[in-house]
Amino acid sequence: MQSTNAAQHAEALDDRVPKPDEVRDGVWSIPLPMDQPGNPFSLCYAIAGSDGSLHLLDTGFDTDENWQLLSAGLAGFGRSVDEVASVFVTHLHPDHLGLSDRLRAASGADIGMLRREHQAVKAIANHGALVTNERLAGWGVPEERRPELLAALGPSLVARDVVAVDRVYEPGERLDIPGRRMTLLATPGHTAGSACVVDDELGLLFTGDTVLPRIFSGLGLGDLSESNPIADYLDSLASLARYDDLEVAPGHGFRFRGLVERTAELAAHHLHRSRAAAQVIAAEPDASTWEVASRLRWTAGWERLGGFYLFSALFQTQLHLEFVRSEAFPG
Ligand SMILES: [Zn+2]
Repeated sequence: MQSTNAAQHAEALDDRVPKPDEVRDGVWSIPLPMDQPGNPFSLCYAIAGSDGSLHLLDTGFDTDENWQLLSAGLAGFGRSVDEVASVFVTHLHPDHLGLSDRLRAASGADIGMLRREHQAVKAIANHGALVTNERLAGWGVPEERRPELLAALGPSLVARDVVAVDRVYEPGERLDIPGRRMTLLATPGHTAGSACVVDDELGLLFTGDTVLPRIFSGLGLGDLSESNPIADYLDSLASLARYDDLEVAPGHGFRFRGLVERTAELAAHHLHRSRAAAQVIAAEPDASTWEVASRLRWTAGWERLGGFYLFSALFQTQLHLEFVRSEAFPG
């Protein structure tokens, strides 16, 4: 894996927020800060259409600071938030969907996403939390630890507000950007409706959070999926192999080449964890999700996990257990 943007790369490795830059003629990258340890910014991409129209891919967290940074970033390229005609959101998390509503209010921009992700937005709005007390009980979570998990969740975790979507896309469709041939790929895993966007003419693959250069994205972090997010994610990574010669423009971090090398690392990371979970239940077939999670290795240390991070650890463990018990698990 090789960084293709030295400045962005150096800043990202230092956990600083890089400056906006031009990716191609009429394609720009605008980093927008967020408050997450080890992941200090998300990347908004701005794309000019052949008719002079302006379009965004992801929008950063919804804060006043980011609104100003986005405005200033676009102004630096002679463009303005008032002229944004459309926003496509790779997935529903607030560091990608974030400023969409403000943009629509400012410029009348259409907000678009894949149909499956739109379904998730509606499901989360209707059902709220990803888990219930019963589900936590089923995972063997001790009663005294349940309140912090339930409190850490809810609709605000995934999509801050219910966003009305103006344009629902199907996989394989092109974004409505005049003069560009940007095609949508369904790459479920991080969320069930996660999208990548490929443009062969530009030689770019926009990966959202499906492929990131520095961090391993959590899986299954949208609405509850009808299929196993780990199996889906491994399939999605494999489906991207044909784009290995393209430059990757991710949702966080820095642009790079060497897509297949990176997808192999991502797949190995998740399979390693599945195998560790498989070993635990081979020795203790009746171990609960809670017990299995407590025996796995966590970067922060199991004892120190709390709130959302504890939920995420338990949820990932649960997904690995379901994957290990499915036919998709390679062993
Ligand atoms: Zn993200």
